[in-house]
Amino acid sequence: MSSLRTPCRPRTILSTTGDYFGYNTPMKKPAGKTAQKQKRPAHTRPGWDEYFINIAKAVSARATCFRRRYGAVVTKDNVIVSTGYNGAPSGMRDCLEEGVCTRKELKIPHGERYELCHSVHAEANAIIRASADELKGATIYISGADAGAGECLSEPCMMCKRMILNAGIAKVVHSDGGGSYHVINPKDWLKTRV
Ligand SMILES: [Zn+2]
Ligand SMILES: [Zn+2]
Repeated sequence: MSSLRTPCRPRTILSTTGDYFGYNTPMKKPAGKTAQKQKRPAHTRPGWDEYFINIAKAVSARATCFRRRYGAVVTKDNVIVSTGYNGAPSGMRDCLEEGVCTRKELKIPHGERYELCHSVHAEANAIIRASADELKGATIYISGADAGAGECLSEPCMMCKRMILNAGIAKVVHSDGGGSYHVINPKDWLKTRV
């Protein structure tokens, strides 16, 4: 039976920009002349946050805007409840089909003039696909990439922050744009009005 299995291959992570758990870190050369064999690296596993944020990154590949691609994953007790990516509402032509992104065309800065964007945000799409019970006390993972610049700081926009608060989501994990992520208690947003 075991002969049918393919041999182990080096692991590759979902993204070329993030390396949350260090699989891309080059192995160190053994020190000294006596070291004949290079030691195998210890088998490491990603923690839950790394695991789910990498899934959010994979989800973002489905986004339909060529300016920014976001993916969101909602989990409860480390089980995926729902996923979402940013895209035009069902039946509406999206940025990719139109060949034009209004916000990109008008060079609107990030975080402003959301009325000019046709898409439903990744966080919103993940939230509307889950039940109120599932969302209460859940965690949302968010990973976004900017066209050309790669992974970006993926803090939710003010509208999504409000939705996250009202959904009762207890923990937000979003990529920091530098290969790692931030873990946030959404209640902290209440200190300044969002
Ligand atoms: Zn767009
Ligand atoms: Zn948003």
